[in-house]
Amino acid sequence: MKLDIVTIFPDYFAPLDVSLLGKARRTGLLDVRVHDLREWTHDRHRTVDDTPYGGGPGMVMKPEPWGEVLDTVAPPGSDPAPRLVVPTPSGRPFTQAMAAELAAEPWLVFACGRYEGIDSRVVDEARTRMRVDEVSLGDFVLAGGEVAVLVMVEAVGRLLPGVLGNADSVTDDSFAPGPMESLLEGPVYTKPPLWRDRPVPEVLLSGNHGAIARWRRDEALRRTARNRPDLLVRMDPGSLDEHDRRV
Ligand code: SAM
Repeated sequence: MKLDIVTIFPDYFAPLDVSLLGKARRTGLLDVRVHDLREWTHDRHRTVDDTPYGGGPGMVMKPEPWGEVLDTVAPPGSDPAPRLVVPTPSGRPFTQAMAAELAAEPWLVFACGRYEGIDSRVVDEARTRMRVDEVSLGDFVLAGGEVAVLVMVEAVGRLLPGVLGNADSVTDDSFAPGPMESLLEGPVYTKPPLWRDRPVPEVLLSGNHGAIARWRRDEALRRTARNRPDLLVRMDPGSLDEHDRRV
């Protein structure tokens, strides 16, 4: 997968050299290029922002450098065109389903906003030649899109075939498509079986795969009810069995 990231703070992306994603880059599964937006400015101060039309506090990112960098990174007529992801608190919520959708794309371009955001004409113009997703990480406001892009790249990157050591680990995750779609994963344990007088739940040591699967689902349902009741409300009632309803 090819990723182009445009930012005024390229150093923010140093973490993409470590751990799973660093390895994915080194093995060629992930081709990441980080572009400094200021390279597409033409004044002495390398200006990327200006005051907002209509007044108000803060600054807005100017359209010209954004237009030029997008034309360079993804020239008009690119076939296939990339999908442009623009992090913004006013976007659609980022979810595991969206991560999976993006992981199926061959090429993503990320546009990191700063200040009060990017002049809206940039997204309007980009939509005429590529798919554009304005995406929010949640109901809070970050100082810039860099951290949001790191989060998305990690969530997408770990879904790419070959990136995780054990491909099965994603199928049991919270929000994974299938039985976990609207559920949070329950508690997990490892050795030793007794630690500070706390035993591992006996069923996990039983070797009874059916009982273990049932216990995991019960715990997932309980945790979801406790921490994210909104997910249970959205769950397809047809996906619940008799036992689920009693939990
Ligand atoms: N004035 C904007 C608003 O109220 O919607 C907030 C701008 S924020 C200070 C600057 C940049 O941070 C945004 O352009 C976006 O790139 C990023 N950002 C902030 N919060 C975000 C969130 N919840 N999800 C995704 N990106 C976010």
